[in-house]
Amino acid sequence: MAVSRRVFLSGSAAALGAVGLAAITTKKAEAKVPQVAVGYQDKPNGSQECSNCRVFIPPHSCKVVAGTISPHGWCEMWAPKA
Ligand code: SF4
Repeated sequence: MAVSRRVFLSGSAAALGAVGLAAITTKKAEAKVPQVAVGYQDKPNGSQECSNCRVFIPPHSCKVVAGTISPHGWCEMWAPKA
């Protein structure tokens, strides 16, 4: 049974695409800072909390800090919304 050149190449491209996507996904996940590294806590620091931080992503994420983020949490990287 012979595999046609087209089938072989399209399979290779799909495989490479999957590897590339995995690499990008892994790199993206690694780009976030661990919560312990920035003193994340699940309660506000005065009036400062994740829900009014410029990098908070509702409902429970952050652009720079990894893991589940409470809207009422806080960390040392807090910055006010513009
Ligand atoms: S306070 Fe920290 S964890 Fe919360 S949204 Fe801002 S940077 Fe992310």
